[in-house]
Amino acid sequence: MTDDPIYVTRPLLPPLAEFIPYLERIWESRWLTNGGQFHVELEARLAAHLGVEHLALFTNGTIALVTALQALGVGGEVITTPYSFVATAHSLIWNNITPVFVDIDPVTCNMDPARIESAITPRTTAILPVHCYGGPCQVAEIREIADAHGLRVIYDAAHAFGVKFEGQSLLSHGDLAVLSFHATKAFHTFEGGAIVCPNSETKKRIDHLKNFGFVDEITVVEVGINGKMNEIQAAMGLLQLEYVDEAIRRRGTIDSIYRDALSGIRGLTMLPIDRKCEPNYSYFPIFVGPDFVESRDRLYERLRRAGIFGRRYFYPLISDMPMYRSLSSASPENLPRAREVANRVLCLPIYPDLTDSDAMRVVRAIRG
Ligand SMILES: *Cc1c(COP(=O)(O)O)cnc(C)c1O
Repeated sequence: MTDDPIYVTRPLLPPLAEFIPYLERIWESRWLTNGGQFHVELEARLAAHLGVEHLALFTNGTIALVTALQALGVGGEVITTPYSFVATAHSLIWNNITPVFVDIDPVTCNMDPARIESAITPRTTAILPVHCYGGPCQVAEIREIADAHGLRVIYDAAHAFGVKFEGQSLLSHGDLAVLSFHATKAFHTFEGGAIVCPNSETKKRIDHLKNFGFVDEITVVEVGINGKMNEIQAAMGLLQLEYVDEAIRRRGTIDSIYRDALSGIRGLTMLPIDRKCEPNYSYFPIFVGPDFVESRDRLYERLRRAGIFGRRYFYPLISDMPMYRSLSSASPENLPRAREVANRVLCLPIYPDLTDSDAMRVVRAIRG
């Protein structure tokens, strides 16, 4: 008998029976998209849940990123991290912006603020950092550099649902912060996303941009895109909100199981615990150093043969992908730490219905 496969994540799915009444209301109203009842309700409930003032829902996180950049009117060059999901840099290219990669802090995996200033040129308009694995960037340092140089800051907060930093929402940092509600994220709407906005004027502008630029039936004020979240997605979000706190608590338990059981293994390290942060435990990366008994890729393959499907988030670096590697900032000498981390990382399975015994199966397989 072989054990069931364990994947890196499984989407949180509330009982189907609880989703049906939402579908019935959608069918009754025949209002399927364009700011229907659930869309309106989810924007309000999510803003309250996350502790932010204003938020605009989107059909996915990537379109939200593209639109956030549009809304701030940034262009030229934008400073970003090579250690992320590829959508971070793609959102720049979709705006005709040149990404300028800077290296990361190898401990947190986030953009190293000390690298930002030397990457600024007269063409630089903004900084696009990522709260990687939901861990807070050095938001104060980044703000200070941005202010000193007149730059905007847009956080790719795709991993940071519900994360608090120094007692307040991490999402309140930056000129804008962008969430993803993709099925693999801690909170999801099948596909979805949102932009956290600092004020109602910005939200209004973004609401126009996500709906072709329409302000009313006959007035189009911008070259907007279609980024609207539909009612089925919004209904999923509303139902999911009732389960997400419990799901995050359960993720936290699995995080502790891994931390205890994997500490002290020669050559394996984990992310440090940030006491100023209330995390969402979306990811559990381990870093396989040269002192470990085998290479990261051997461990990855061996786990797969045992039915444990970890993922190498984030490998390869975005800067090594064919459409980015000819940029001067993509050169290996510029990004030694990001490369080293990308070569060492392996994200372990973590999701709310992973059992304690499955987590221990992962640990035993790693110990070999
Ligand atoms: C998931 C993710 C995105 C893209 O979000 P989608 O909703 O899948 O379009 C962007 N950036 C990061 C860092 C992500 O992990």
